[in-house]
Amino acid sequence: MSDIFSLADDLGPLKVIHVHEPGIGLRGVLVVDNVARGPSVGGVRMAADVTVEECARLARAMTFKNAAAGLPHGGGKAVLVGDPKMPRADKEVLIRGFCCALREVEQYIFAPDMGTDEQCMVWVKDEIDRVVGLPREVGGIPLDEIGATGFGLSHAVDVAQEFCDLDIKGARFAVQGFGAVGKHATRFLCEAGAIPVAVSDSAGTLQDPDGLDVDALLALKAAGKSVTEHSAGVKLERDAIIDVECDIWIPAARPDVIHEGNVDRLNTRIVVQGANIPITYAAEKTLHERGILNIPDFIANAGGVICAATEYQGAGEAAAFGAIEEKLRRNTHEVLETAQQQGILPRDAALAMARRRVERAMSNRRWHIF
Ligand code: NAD
Repeated sequence: MSDIFSLADDLGPLKVIHVHEPGIGLRGVLVVDNVARGPSVGGVRMAADVTVEECARLARAMTFKNAAAGLPHGGGKAVLVGDPKMPRADKEVLIRGFCCALREVEQYIFAPDMGTDEQCMVWVKDEIDRVVGLPREVGGIPLDEIGATGFGLSHAVDVAQEFCDLDIKGARFAVQGFGAVGKHATRFLCEAGAIPVAVSDSAGTLQDPDGLDVDALLALKAAGKSVTEHSAGVKLERDAIIDVECDIWIPAARPDVIHEGNVDRLNTRIVVQGANIPITYAAEKTLHERGILNIPDFIANAGGVICAATEYQGAGEAAAFGAIEEKLRRNTHEVLETAQQQGILPRDAALAMARRRVERAMSNRRWHIF
């Protein structure tokens, strides 16, 4: 008993549910952190080494992310023990078993995360129907295909202009990670008149101060190749993207890529966080001291979860783009304005805003347990 309550604080978690079905080798945990704003949304993570603590931390992150995005959803997360690359048929049994065991927990809406995908969500839909992240043919909005998160990032940059005297037209930008988030962010920023001067993927960095040919790079990626295989531009090693001189720097790859040991190498005016936790808190402090405007992950990259919430309401792609634009612009403005007025880090302003929204919702509930 004492162990499980060590996870608890003034916001949650509301429920921690352990699912164990030895007959099919099913072991999983659901943490519903807080539902004051509505039923919780958060992905199902499948990995061999997941823990209850990890699940609770990720569920809390979803409480803040959904509240910061202004969604009518609380935060939750589920973890499933297993190798995500197991045979498809075995995975199907585990996913179907897991969601059937959680059929009655209406405070949790399933979504994909590391180790689970659209196909897993189709199985969940077939069993219990309480799910987002579905493919188009069963009523979903394919958020990576339409570039929901990249679209949101471009609006965050647009709003940031007034806080750092930057003109997006002609601004030079660099993107670390030319995947689902990075390539669409590039596309939307180009449409707004910005110039991509460097992009990278796991194989290396490609730089051209005169601007890269984005259509050619998108075609390379579609063919399963690296951006470094493009015939123009200078090829550099993978982490050279950090040193590229630019106005806007976008991490869209891995966590913790910028830390105290390399933050001084960044040569930019704005950082817009596409990836989750790409910069350590200490490095964010350094950016602040150097006068570099930094838009934190759960504000800047909320396009994906806003898209998922729109899907859950049964609305379509046009509504998703509208909601992303409106929410990203309002939240980025509020966070940057508060940070500027109070002289605090944008992340601290964002966390305070999210916590305030959760607490306000909690104060309207009799008990938020029912
Ligand atoms: P992805 O797998 O589609 O793309 C990742 C890209 O990063 C690939 O091109 C890969 O080659 C590259 N990469 C990997 N390691 C790298 C490195 N060390 N240096 C440079 N490039 C590297 O993934 P994604 O969906 O674009 O997600 C990227 C990040 O954004 C993740 O942190 C993810 O959690 C976060 N995120 C994604 C979404 C979304 O809508 N997909 C939403 C919010 C946050």
